[in-house]
Amino acid sequence: MKNKKSRDKRRTSLFIFFCIFIFIAAGLFAYFAFKKIEFNPAEFFNNSSPQVTQRPEEPAAADDEDAAPPQDETDEYAAVPFYLHEKRSRYISYHAMRPTLGIETIVWHVNADLHLTMFEDAKILDDENPLLVNPFNRLPETYEPAELVEVDSYGRLVTPETRTAFFLLRDAIRLEGYDVSVQSAYRTYEYQAGLYERSGGSGTVAPPGFSEHHTGRAVDLWGPGGLLDNDPGKPPSNEGIWVANNCHRFGFIVRYPAGADHITGYPYEPWHITYVGEEISNAMHVQNILTLEEFLAKNPGIKK
Ligand SMILES: [Zn+2]
Repeated sequence: MKNKKSRDKRRTSLFIFFCIFIFIAAGLFAYFAFKKIEFNPAEFFNNSSPQVTQRPEEPAAADDEDAAPPQDETDEYAAVPFYLHEKRSRYISYHAMRPTLGIETIVWHVNADLHLTMFEDAKILDDENPLLVNPFNRLPETYEPAELVEVDSYGRLVTPETRTAFFLLRDAIRLEGYDVSVQSAYRTYEYQAGLYERSGGSGTVAPPGFSEHHTGRAVDLWGPGGLLDNDPGKPPSNEGIWVANNCHRFGFIVRYPAGADHITGYPYEPWHITYVGEEISNAMHVQNILTLEEFLAKNPGIKK
């Protein structure tokens, strides 16, 4: 009788302990679940106040070319939409040289290599069909466009896309009662070298390798009085005005606009149009950007 009583008592105590244990366990579970902290027994028993697990602190980004872009929104360069982190140190040194320029101008100038010396610091292009040929990007002597076709009865050559676009442009200008023809198109490296030599390095003729005519996408237009609007002393012709206002509809741009020598390397050439494709020519028109250099610098996702 006595044994049964003490056994019952032990059972009751065990049951109470079991209940308390379950109660504490459930309480702890609810606590950690609520605080969203991971339960780490070692940490919990060594430290009276459980710590919220934190991500280890990110190592400070070094200011070199491989580091990730900083997330600091107060950084004036990084806030520019076409900021390129790998050019960061160049933005800073160019800004020190040109302190009066605005931040956006600093960023796109450096993106366009304008901090370098024209014709001296040029990169040699190795693409099959490079878009940007200018005083900072030259074609190798061996460069040949993949395909060239005749654009007139004199056997002048351009790329097939350039010819198609040029014929559409010419049909459209003829509908207006005007006309233009091709005065110069594709030029070989050797031909350009001869032109350059004869010009005496005057600055209006590109040195060999630097000429867009070498790409087969550039065309010099002949207007009613000769090379289209070649005389800056005369007001622009109807043909010149039409070409300037409409060539983008056919994928062309007036490649060397007035007052942009410091960007393109050349004075105004109203006769020189370059086929860049309608996507780019229309985007430049919509964004009101006159030079290919500025457009590509502000749209760094586009393949040059
Ligand atoms: Zn030209």
